[in-house]
Amino acid sequence: MSLGKHHFDFEIGEAFFADLSYAEVTQGKVKVGLEIDKQENMLHFHFDIDGTLEVPCDRCADAFDIGIEGTNELFIKYGEEYLEESEDVLVITKDQHLFDIRHLLYEYIVLLLPYKRVHPDDEHGSPTCNPQVLELLKAHQAPEEIDPRWEALKKLKDKE
Ligand SMILES: [Zn+2]
Repeated sequence: MSLGKHHFDFEIGEAFFADLSYAEVTQGKVKVGLEIDKQENMLHFHFDIDGTLEVPCDRCADAFDIGIEGTNELFIKYGEEYLEESEDVLVITKDQHLFDIRHLLYEYIVLLLPYKRVHPDDEHGSPTCNPQVLELLKAHQAPEEIDPRWEALKKLKDKE
C-alpha cells in the first residue's frame, strides 16, 4: 500500500459473524466504509458503519433487526512490540504485515447497539412484539396496587 489515502467499501454479514466463535450477534447486514490514511510511521483508519443487526428483543425475546450507525477512528503505529496503547491507538511491529481488524470491527459494531433493544412501536404507538408473548406478560404482571379488601379476603382464604 502506498502512502496516502485509500478507500475500501465492503459489506459484512453472516459469514463475518460465523468466523468469530465468541460473537453474540450472528446475523446482520452492515456496510463498512473504511478509509486508510497511510503515513510514514502510522496508519489512520476511519470506519463508517451503517447497517442492521439481528438481536433478541428485551421484551418478547423474538429476534428483530435493529439499525446501527456510527464512526470509529483507529491509529496504528509501529513499535517494538504489540501494544494497545489506548482505546483507539494500537502499536504493532513492523513485520506484522497482516493485521486482523475483524475483532476490532466486531467490537465497534456491537458497541453501536442501543442499551435498550425492543421492537419498535407501530404507527398507532402499539408495540410490534410477539402478540402471544405480550398477552402472557400482561397476564403475569402484578397489579399496580392490591386493593386492601382483596388482601383481607385472601388472608381469610389462606386460613381455610
Ligand atoms: Zn419484542
